[in-house]
Amino acid sequence: MSDRRKRCTACGESIPASAKICQHCKSVQPSNLLLYGAILLGVFCLLIGVPIALFAVGLGRLVGFLVAIFGLALIFGGYTAYLDRTAGREL
Ligand SMILES: [Zn+2]
Repeated sequence: MSDRRKRCTACGESIPASAKICQHCKSVQPSNLLLYGAILLGVFCLLIGVPIALFAVGLGRLVGFLVAIFGLALIFGGYTAYLDRTAGREL
């Protein structure tokens, strides 16, 4: 299938999956590479934040906890955005 479609992240119109810019509203489409980067960064934050939160004391524990939460948010946000993108492409 060469004419795969995805939905514009701004106006929701169907555009070619390879399009970098929407033909309807001219908004730039974020690349999936960015999502993978966000998810990777999230995993990285989680791997660093959880041990810090577990073993550090005082302020260090709070910082580790915040980093871990930030990592979780990145993973969750990136994953749901990826699902949205994939679902739009199948329409
Ligand atoms: Zn658009």
